[in-house]
Amino acid sequence: MQELVLKKNEERRLLAGHLWIYSNEIDPKFSPLKKFTPGEIVEIKTASHRILGSGYINPNTLLCARLLTSNPQEEINLEFFVTRIKQALICRNLCFDKPFYRLIFGESDQLPGLVVDRFDDVLVAQLNTAGIENLKELIVEALIHVIKPTSILLRNNSPVRTTENLTSYVEAAYGEPPEQITLEENGINFIAAIKTGQKTGWFYDQRCNRARLAAYVENRNVLDVFSYSGSFGITAAVNNAQNVTCIDSSEPALEQVRQNAELNKVSDKVTSICADAFSALKDLHADKKLFDVIILDPPAFIKRQKDITAGTEAYLRLQRLALNILQSNGRFL
Ligand code: SAH
Repeated sequence: MQELVLKKNEERRLLAGHLWIYSNEIDPKFSPLKKFTPGEIVEIKTASHRILGSGYINPNTLLCARLLTSNPQEEINLEFFVTRIKQALICRNLCFDKPFYRLIFGESDQLPGLVVDRFDDVLVAQLNTAGIENLKELIVEALIHVIKPTSILLRNNSPVRTTENLTSYVEAAYGEPPEQITLEENGINFIAAIKTGQKTGWFYDQRCNRARLAAYVENRNVLDVFSYSGSFGITAAVNNAQNVTCIDSSEPALEQVRQNAELNKVSDKVTSICADAFSALKDLHADKKLFDVIILDPPAFIKRQKDITAGTEAYLRLQRLALNILQSNGRFL
């Protein structure tokens, strides 16, 4: 393993539990970036050469290296991934009674760059960094060992891979993943298009918010903006909302809204609008429409520091547009 030596005092964040190292924190005298290859495993050291652990590096990115383990004895091998995945599984079993959840949530499960969503015995993974891509075989083997899935799909077509100089592809890493899958969330069944949908096909990270929504919608008029496949909207409909309107700019997403409405026998009260959310909200205001509950779940407008001003402005604009059509004493999520 090559050494990656940090500049003086740059170990503080890592010692506090954060896993990232930026390129300007690395000492170019001891570890010039050009000697590393993308994805290489390195031993990370302080300026005084104390070992901090090991991780992976991509010399071509600003967010240059990520810590995989702070235990100098721990090797990055099959056993490492088996241990991490087992730990993640224990946490999920404590929280969820059915096997539908985000099994691995990157840094939060001490597996930076890796996302794995579980749809019962089908796993859908995103390998988002060169380091994790290099470890693909071990990860797939460890997932098979711990979870015993029937198939594993790699949705390696996220735009973040471009920054890491990785190619974009979707492929089965194991078995034959289906096109679509039925999942259960908060007691409701949904269809997710795991091969062609957005990200892994489902936004499990919003599951607890959707569970909270259920308590607020009875007999209410609900608007789900940036609905994707209708996870919030259908949750509202099933929980006795009076009617639900879903807005998304993607027609395939709205086709899934209709499928999910049908699956849950709520098609009669779910309508969809295929449009840009900004203009759709303006149009609803012009038509003097009002909603008792509005959910606004926009995509990330701020992906880099330089997006902060424009992104913040866009979030505010959206919120104002939504609040314009919120019934007084309504709820805004
Ligand atoms: N609420 C969803 C996830 C939303 S992801 C869920 O919990 O499942 C963001 C969604 O916004 C995507 O479906 C995308 O198609 C849509 N989108 C992106 N830009 C948009 C725009 N300008 N107007 C309307 N929809 C947009």
